[in-house]
Amino acid sequence: MLCPKCRSLNNKVIDSRLSKSEVSIRRRRQCLDCDYRFTTSEEVMRADLQVVKRDATREDFDRSKLVNGLKKAIEKRPIESLQIDLLISDIIATLEEKFDQEVSSEMIGELIMERLKKLDKIAYVRYASVYKDFRDIDEFAKEVNKLK
Ligand SMILES: [Zn+2]
Repeated sequence: MLCPKCRSLNNKVIDSRLSKSEVSIRRRRQCLDCDYRFTTSEEVMRADLQVVKRDATREDFDRSKLVNGLKKAIEKRPIESLQIDLLISDIIATLEEKFDQEVSSEMIGELIMERLKKLDKIAYVRYASVYKDFRDIDEFAKEVNKLK
């Protein structure tokens, strides 16, 4: 298992437990090189996490939705699939750490954009344009200008 932070393969399991719904085993790991702590899961990741959407409806957290949104943004960009895997595990680790039962879709969007911005500006703008649903060209231009 790669450390999401430094990519080291050396880590130890510091805690294992069965999730509330008992569909998965969660393991808390610590990187032996940089001490970063992250969580891995066998089977369903975050089956207990609810996403609160902008219209206040809820749905189960769905990792594949997150992946699909990212794939569209990075299409034909020079980004390795490993980088995307790391980005996804970093986002999920952050969700694990900061949110217990629910998280807003806006927060997930922010987490993704924050990381895409560092990784690839074009992918970031693509993602932001879908996610932020810019009302007009000025708003879009403002966002692009911030990147210069
Ligand atoms: Zn590490």
